[in-house]
Amino acid sequence: MPQANLIRFQCSACKRYTYWSRKNVRKSEGKLALKKFCRWCHKQTQHKEAKKT
Ligand SMILES: [Zn+2]
Repeated sequence: MPQANLIRFQCSACKRYTYWSRKNVRKSEGKLALKKFCRWCHKQTQHKEAKKT
């Protein structure tokens, strides 16, 4: 099962991929965007969930 469910979170401010996780790490909240702390922006920003293909 190599990387099949790997997803990444892209900061909408700097466009960097700041977090990586497996699909089942976090319960889906119905939205693909979350507020997360971006270490590049040094603040909380909206992050989009993107599937790795
Ligand atoms: Zn950022």
